[in-house]
Amino acid sequence: MESLKKVLLIAPCGMNCGICRAYLREKNKCPGCRGPDTGKAVTRIRCKIKTCEVFQKEKAKFCFTCKNFPCKNLKHLDLRYQTKYNMSMIENLEFIKTNGLKKFVENEKIRWTCPECGGIICVHNGCCSNCGKKRM
Ligand SMILES: [Zn+2]
Repeated sequence: MESLKKVLLIAPCGMNCGICRAYLREKNKCPGCRGPDTGKAVTRIRCKIKTCEVFQKEKAKFCFTCKNFPCKNLKHLDLRYQTKYNMSMIENLEFIKTNGLKKFVENEKIRWTCPECGGIICVHNGCCSNCGKKRM
């Protein structure tokens, strides 16, 4: 059950919702991109990637199966995350494509676990959501 929940936390764009500040916060916790829209910020509901027509039509699970991959919207998002948060969605998707989702989730767990307390490190502020320690 727990692993299934983790899989659902990987968004179509390759974002790991489990490390997002909206998911990690106590108040108005976001259920993740694949979760229900209630209580989510408008920017997330209107996400260009999640609501992408090609994506909806193909009923794709991840953007890498799309004929337009990587599209302009995804590249734009990816560049923003690479620049601001040192994380690449396209890299994540390439990894999932090659190694499978299970391996990706395993790696993500190692990558974003706080070495001090075992809490989850937030991608947006680089700090542990549990003890607050800044990631190196
Ligand atoms: Zn910690």
